[in-house]
This record gives sequence, C-alpha cells and structure tokens, in this order.
Amino acid sequence: MKHAALTLCEAVSLLEQGDLTAVGLTESVLARIEAVEKRIHSFITLDAERALARAAEVDEQRRRGWAGRLCGLPVSVKDVLCTRTMRTTCGSRILENFTPPYDATVIRKLEDEGAVIIGKLAMDEFAMGSTSENCAFGVPENPWLPGYVAGGSSGGSASCVAADESLATLGSDTGGSIRQPASLCGVVGMKPTYGRVSRYGLVAFASSLDQVGPLTRDVADCALMMNVISGYDPADSTSVNREVPDYGAALQDGMRGLRVCVPVEYFNDGLNPEVERVVRSGIDMLADAGAEIVEVSLPHTEYCVAVYYLIAPAEASSNLARYDGVRYGVRDMDAGSLLEMYSRSRSAGFGDEVKRRILIGTYALSAGYYDAYYKKASQVRTLIREDFDRAWQQCDLIASPVCPTPAWRIGEKSDDLMALYLSDILTISANLAGIPAMSVPAGFSGSGLPIGMQLQAAHFNEEVLLRAAWNVEQRAGVRGRRPELV
Ligand code: GLN
Repeated sequence: MKHAALTLCEAVSLLEQGDLTAVGLTESVLARIEAVEKRIHSFITLDAERALARAAEVDEQRRRGWAGRLCGLPVSVKDVLCTRTMRTTCGSRILENFTPPYDATVIRKLEDEGAVIIGKLAMDEFAMGSTSENCAFGVPENPWLPGYVAGGSSGGSASCVAADESLATLGSDTGGSIRQPASLCGVVGMKPTYGRVSRYGLVAFASSLDQVGPLTRDVADCALMMNVISGYDPADSTSVNREVPDYGAALQDGMRGLRVCVPVEYFNDGLNPEVERVVRSGIDMLADAGAEIVEVSLPHTEYCVAVYYLIAPAEASSNLARYDGVRYGVRDMDAGSLLEMYSRSRSAGFGDEVKRRILIGTYALSAGYYDAYYKKASQVRTLIREDFDRAWQQCDLIASPVCPTPAWRIGEKSDDLMALYLSDILTISANLAGIPAMSVPAGFSGSGLPIGMQLQAAHFNEEVLLRAAWNVEQRAGVRGRRPELV
C-alpha cells in the first residue's frame, strides 16, 4: 500500500527502472481506497476492474518499448468530465445514470500518455458550492480532521490526493473550486489561464469562467500534469492556439528578478489570524528566495462576489436549460403534458442550490433586469480585470491567502449562504479576469488543518506561478507530510 503515497515523478522513475509495475501500483492504490474510502468518500464511481485491465495493458506497452509521460500512473477525475466508459453525474440526481458517448479532451490526453483512470470524484452538484456538501452521492471529508469539509466544489479531487487514493486528480475551477479544496486539504492545485486547457467534454457551469486543472502532491507533479493537459483544441472554440512551454523546466530558477505584489484588500478584518500568519510567512519565503515584495491595491476586489454571483448563475441558468428530461437524465414518467414533464423532471432532479442559481440567473437575464444586473456586472468585471492589468506593471506575481479560514465542520455553514459565498472572495477575481492562479501548501493551523497560499500571475504565465510555488514548497517544510488515517 505504501506505493499509493508516491508522487507522480517518484512513481515514473520506479516504473522506468522496472522496480514497480502499473498493475502493482494500481493494486496499491485500490487497497488504499478500500482501507480509507469509508471515511473519506472521495469517489462517486470507482472502476477497479477496468483500472487493473488498463494497467496490464500499459505494462505490456512498456515491455514493447512504448511509455507515455503518465505511463501506468493511477489518477482520478472530477465527475464533471465526460468519460465514455464511466457514468458522469456532475454530483446530480438528474444525471445519475448518464454515460456520455464521448471522452473529454483532457481524458483523452491523460489516456494517450498512459494514465490509468481509477474513478470519478465527488463534487458539489454542477460545481456549485464551496464544501462539496451539495453532492447528491455523499460528502467527501477532510483527510486531516474527521468531520471537516474537504472544500469545494472539487472536494473529492482534493481529498483523493490528500488521502493517497490516487496519485493526482483533475478538478474544475469556476470561482475557486480547484484552489480552495487544494488549500483546505494540503495539496497543490492550479487553475490555468482561461483558454490554456480544453473544456471540450467539461460539463458547463459558467462558460466564461470554467477551467480544468490538476490537483497534485507537489509542484513538480503539477507541472507534469499541466504539460499533459494544456494546449489548443479545435473542438473548444475558447481554447487558445499558443505553444505549451515545458512547465517543469524553470522550477528551480529561484526568485531573483521577480517582483511579488501583496494586495492590501486581501488582508482585511475577515481573515483568520492563523491563515494570515501562514501566508505572511510564505511571502517571507519568496523574499528569502530572492523576490522583491511590493504592496499593491486591487480596488475593485470588494465587488467580485456580487459580480460573480450574477454572472455565474446567469450563465448556469442558460447552460442547465438542456436538462429537460427529453435529452438527458432523469425523466418524470407520470406527467400529463410536456410542460409538466419538464417541470417535474427538473424539480426532482436538481438540488436546492442548483435551483437557487437557476432562479437568480434567469431573473438577472430577464428583459427589464438585464441592464441593471447582468450588463452592470459585466462592466464591473472589466474594472476587476483592469485592476490586474495595472498590477502587472508593478509585479510578476500576486501572493495572498486562498480562503479566509482553514476548513470548517461539515454542516457548520450550510444555513448561512452569505458566509459560504463570501468565503470565495479571494479566488473569484482570477476567474473573472481569466488569469492563472494556484494554491500551494504553506503551513498548518494549530488544530492541524492545512493552509494554502495563493499565487496569481498574468495570462499564460503559469511558469512563473510554478516557479514561485516550488520555492515556497522547498522552504515551508510541509511537503511529504501526510494525514494519519489508518
Ligand atoms: N464556490 C463557488 C460557487 O459556488 C465556485 C465554484 C466553482 O469554482 N466551481 O460558485
């Protein structure tokens, strides 16, 4: 079972040397899942049989002389990515038995490089939420402290990596859903630049904000996953045709010559003192590595939650119109008319948060309100992007917390939607601006919960992010620290 805790890069070298096989590694990971999954609940669907068959296949390919960049590595993906061989539920009853007829581009890319896909991971329904409590198929738990949230919406993607149930995972990030659970579970998570990674086969939540990205045990693994999933895809009109650099090449270059901005608006009264302590020490580590630290103002930060909670629901209300009981998923069979069938299927299939967002979004887009809400929000979105454009004239990176607090108890904020929405305040802006951002583990709270540090950079500057994150990782002394589960 010990192999389940390897990083991708460590496993690659053992596999290359012939000290480990894909089947052996997959068996270790499956044994680990068997041992801890009752407590962690990372998975919605697990296909052990297919994973083992696939591992045997890649072992055979290696014997014949072929090995892709992820050859034999067991990974899992958020259940919002279409897979031809496993159902894709999006954490929703409405898609409980939906198996897509095609694979997402990122799934194809993983498999083309020899990855062994183990299963599909728990998430908030249609990626709407910050705790994964809105999942219709069980709530993932934080591996570091029983009864605590893993974060969301890619909660299963984070708990899975932290609990050694896969070597790496994919998540999606519309307003923080990769970075926030990564921070709360003590793993590395990156939201790439909008357009860097194909969204073909990513079930849409808010199309102008959604991006797919990796969650991994360390920064070098994040670079490896980014090398595999990035790049132009003619099947996604928002993907950008731009060369993919080798993300692993510059990790060890140090921070000399780089300027890091600390935004004053991200360190306000609502920030938990332990989070502030850890993040400030992370900033000191960047200075220690040679970076120059400067303060910056991002004056429109305070509007980002309001802007996001208009734009994201507006786009969601349109994207989710397709779940009509005719073409996808659950259908009410007792309805007397077509309209009644739509309404009863959607009422039964969607959970409360999804219904709430559809209502808000439909309202914000309706004639008479469009100018006051959606249009206004889009205009303020431009101002938020311009804040960042101005910041890049002064610096290469922005360092901040990811989430204002460490993880909280399951159920603690379920009745306080405002508190949940506000907890996204530090991650949303990157999606509104389309810039890359990541979370790297920087320390722990007194009660043993991990705390991540957020790094943001200008469009397509993922390399700078990874380089800074690597420097934090080298100094923070938390790499390799694992939760005690069994
Ligand atoms: N927590 C945010 C929301 O509920 C972000 C979700 C996400 O990034 N998918 O919308």
